[in-house]
Amino acid sequence: MKQIIGASCIFLCDERFSILENGGLLIECDPRSQHNKILKIQDFKSLTQSYPELQASFYTDSVLLPALSNAHIHFEFSNNRSHLLYGDFPSWLSSVITHRDDLMTELSQSIQREIKLQLASGVASVGAISSYGYDISPLIHSPLKVTLFNEAIGSNPEALDFLYGNLLERFEECRQYSSARFKPALAIHSPYSTHYVLARKIAHLAKHEGVRLSCHFLESKEEKQWLYHQNGWFKEFFSHFFGVHQAKPSMNALEFLDLLQDTSPLFVHCLFADDEILDRIAKLCGFVACAPRSNRLLNGRYLDLDKLRYFDLHPIFSTDGLSSNHSLNLIEEIRSAFFGYASLDAMQLAQDLILGITRFPALALGNPNGEIGEGKDADLAIFECEGIESSRQKPLHFVLHAHTHVTQLYINGQGEQTWKL
Ligand SMILES: [Zn+2]
Repeated sequence: MKQIIGASCIFLCDERFSILENGGLLIECDPRSQHNKILKIQDFKSLTQSYPELQASFYTDSVLLPALSNAHIHFEFSNNRSHLLYGDFPSWLSSVITHRDDLMTELSQSIQREIKLQLASGVASVGAISSYGYDISPLIHSPLKVTLFNEAIGSNPEALDFLYGNLLERFEECRQYSSARFKPALAIHSPYSTHYVLARKIAHLAKHEGVRLSCHFLESKEEKQWLYHQNGWFKEFFSHFFGVHQAKPSMNALEFLDLLQDTSPLFVHCLFADDEILDRIAKLCGFVACAPRSNRLLNGRYLDLDKLRYFDLHPIFSTDGLSSNHSLNLIEEIRSAFFGYASLDAMQLAQDLILGITRFPALALGNPNGEIGEGKDADLAIFECEGIESSRQKPLHFVLHAHTHVTQLYINGQGEQTWKL
């Protein structure tokens, strides 16, 4: 089936941030095989004249752009409202350990609610960090395109075989459902919380299986102190919560990066990464994702985008989980970030924010969407955005005025009415 979709303004989300006014897309899809793609990009009027027999829809005062990708989200923490403490990383992490079990009870309704919110806010693709496997089934049965990062955590040398076995079980379960819509992947929680031997096994597995790999990295100053100087708050943390006295990190930051050769990993947060680390990440062909509101709540700082640019790294913006956010709406997230980065050039920042929820997360997740180009998947989002037609600063006005709920979302060329929610 072929059809034409157009809008007053199309953000192609290519490298130059091209904008097409009164643009149209010719797309095709086969609902049975999920085969779909964008065939042609032109102005709407000439497309409808060339193909008068096709169904055509045009959205006025609206922006059409690639459907959004939320590359770092924890659905399993969707129960949190006020259990967890904010303001500094140690208080937050301690509260997570204390309340983890309470937060995991009666989870299915909140996971479903957040899946629906992703779709309603224009997200077609997610990079879901799965710590326990509770989100696997709801995500398999959702319309979302999912990269499911099965996560391992644990630094007790005696438990490593058990932890790795548990990870393999979850990974195997995911592999049975592997498809173009659901991709099993792996996550190392972080170098402070995952033993070197376990992290090495997971990196090896990711390489061997050719799957995506994600890890939290240098999120807090306490983590930096621990990995670089083997002391500080984490010493007390391991003693208090795990009874390990005189604990030591099993690797430093650079040894961790050495493990990740040939995996093009997705590093999450990197708030305390210095030049040496960012240079190594760039050489690993890695990606850097941040979650600005989470970073504000736990660490009181934002990722340095100028520094990232210097190393030719492109920021990815994500929501993280409700464990460190008040909402998982990705449009609201970039709107908050826009006001957080008060000193950056407003127009450049607006473009970076939009590319950071479309083009770059798609590259990091290895999905053929995230850019409107011929041959790309027909994953598209249309947002009403009053005044966009006459705007002379369209990306900036989109960040300010786009409705936080999408008018229409196409996944594999199919609109909302065809999904089973
Ligand atoms: Zn996270």
